[in-house]
Amino acid sequence: MQALYALELSELKELLKAKGCSGYVGVQIFQWVYKLMVFDPAGWTNVRQSLRQEISTWLDLSVPQIIKEQISVDQTRKFLLQFSDAETVEAVLIPRNGRLAVCLSSQVGCAFGCRFCHTATQGLKRNLTAAEIVGQYLVVQKHLLQIDPTWIVTNIVFMGQGEPLHNFAAVKKAILILLDNHGIGLGQRRITVSTCGFIEGIKKLNDFPPVNIAISLHAARDEIRNQLMPVNQAQGLAGLGEAIKAIPLKAHRRITYEYLLIKDLNDTPADIAALAAYLNPQQAKINLIPFNEHPASHFARPTPEKIAWFQEELMKRNFVCTIRPSMGSDILAACGQLKSAVQTKTKKK
Ligand code: SAH
Repeated sequence: MQALYALELSELKELLKAKGCSGYVGVQIFQWVYKLMVFDPAGWTNVRQSLRQEISTWLDLSVPQIIKEQISVDQTRKFLLQFSDAETVEAVLIPRNGRLAVCLSSQVGCAFGCRFCHTATQGLKRNLTAAEIVGQYLVVQKHLLQIDPTWIVTNIVFMGQGEPLHNFAAVKKAILILLDNHGIGLGQRRITVSTCGFIEGIKKLNDFPPVNIAISLHAARDEIRNQLMPVNQAQGLAGLGEAIKAIPLKAHRRITYEYLLIKDLNDTPADIAALAAYLNPQQAKINLIPFNEHPASHFARPTPEKIAWFQEELMKRNFVCTIRPSMGSDILAACGQLKSAVQTKTKKK
């Protein structure tokens, strides 16, 4: 059956027309499922009862199920979500500076094999559908509102499992649905798509909603990046730079470069020099991510002094450079620590 949460409003309207309903019913359904059902379940009467019943006979309204929730000492929450075929992914809620960001997954596992990443050890199982991506948001938001009616998700980051640009069509569609003002209506600047530098995908960004783009750079020297990220081996940093230049950016919007700091590997003066040569401080923002350790890795995190030094050196070179606090690492919810627990089917308490 066609999944409702995979339909953009225009597609839903088409489908309704074919069923003999007016296009406006599509708007009502969008308001119903994305606004009322989420934020005011008692008040979803804008679609008449008979139509509601009918819709559920030709549209699939199922959402993933939360089968496990872990809460970190810093209030980060990690959810294990299960789809109808029993595959699972993780989504993470990150409360910070008065914002509530949800980190969504785009694939079950990942194909890119970055050496430092926990998800990579899973390999790629399958892509998520647009409905499954939107569904992650819906179940997490509904769950949060049950705990506290003021907990409204303000930002979405595609930094969970998977490479979003490797599942381009579904991620694009999910974002268009999340942006639609008749439904969830999230602002473009509140959504960030992070890519490992998958050039084929970056080249298609001229046909993508203008959300924030983050590039997981992690090294500005080919010999290091090739070693850390196999995706670099085909076209190198030069090829990546060319592809990035072609990304259509709205005026004044800068690309964020994520830079994982790994002890004695990419935290040296040579790396600072390479970064300064590769990036332009007018156009790039650098977000340093101190390496988060996890069971499958032998890398280590630099000392806090080293991390601070790295940031200062970049700031001296006029870069806007922040350090990402590692949230939720006690429950393996931080960047690069996600891996679906395939065998456990723990029931949510
Ligand atoms: N595939 C996309 C989306 C994943 S985002 C991408 O690569 O951008 C997850 C972010 O966490 C990426 O920047 C990733 O490189 C980073 N990361 C992976 N493993 C990590 C680890 N062990 N510690 C800290 N960050 C990590």
